[in-house]
Amino acid sequence: MSATEGPLAPGVYLVATPIGNLEDITLRALRVLRDADRIACEDTRQTRKLLDRYGIATPVISSHEHNEAERSRELLDELRGGARIAVVTDAGTPGISDPGMVLAKAAIAENVAVYAIPGASALLAALVASGLDTERFFFAGFLPPRKGERKTALEELAGSLPRATTLVLYEAPHRILDTLEDVSAVWGAECRIAVARELTKVHEEFLRGTVREVREEMEARGTVRGEMVLMIEAQPTADDAGRGAGSVRERLAELEKSEGLTEKDALKRLARERGVAKSELWRELQREKARGR
Ligand code: SAM
Repeated sequence: MSATEGPLAPGVYLVATPIGNLEDITLRALRVLRDADRIACEDTRQTRKLLDRYGIATPVISSHEHNEAERSRELLDELRGGARIAVVTDAGTPGISDPGMVLAKAAIAENVAVYAIPGASALLAALVASGLDTERFFFAGFLPPRKGERKTALEELAGSLPRATTLVLYEAPHRILDTLEDVSAVWGAECRIAVARELTKVHEEFLRGTVREVREEMEARGTVRGEMVLMIEAQPTADDAGRGAGSVRERLAELEKSEGLTEKDALKRLARERGVAKSELWRELQREKARGR
């Protein structure tokens, strides 16, 4: 028995499912879903839609972020007895900002075979049509939802990513405008970005341009809806020394030294340079001090 042909070998099958368009599923994925003993799903109702579409009657069992650990123990017992367990999430590839890894890691630790059945993932679909560099990219999933923590996370990324890296993020529609504001504060308003919205669905679209342009376009629409992936050309620009990735503390010290400004005046100047409020810079300065940067 092998994982590629003939009867399905025992083990865990991480099966990618469509991210909108139900045609985006491979022949192999359908065969695995049909021949597995069970399918562990994030939401059984959601997966039923896919299974019904392809006439697959394999028993399903729920396994989501809240019961994944317990469920994995049960499934592992079955796997030790030679079961074939397919794992799917509501959309895309299991384990990519989604459940699946608890079982996969536990299985690997017990020498149970783990197979990837590749297919759709919003991450790669968005990236390849973004128009940004694909040579080197960094996927950071969802950023923290709180403003201060999100900004800190972006700054840490700005300070740690190699040059010419495209940063790929998942973001919720109700937070995208705030996140773009943070992106602008970190990399500057002219930084190039792309937002992929509703990939593979009826209202699929790409918004490409500078962060300022994309934000203006979204604001003009009033409401922003749909699932989305945000991609950022996260490379320092020529004037970044003065605005994006550099620390507030360092830049203030520079301004104080080179132009003889007081801290208050340097803060005013830097706020103008970066196009952000003085109070925002002040908070950032406190965060940097707390991090010892
Ligand atoms: N495991 C999935 C994958 O491989 O893409 C991702 C699951 S994560 C919980 C859901 C997020 O993925 C959404 O909030 C959105 O950021 C992104 N996403 C999923 N489907 C999408 C689509 N059709 N268009 C744009 N983004 C999508």
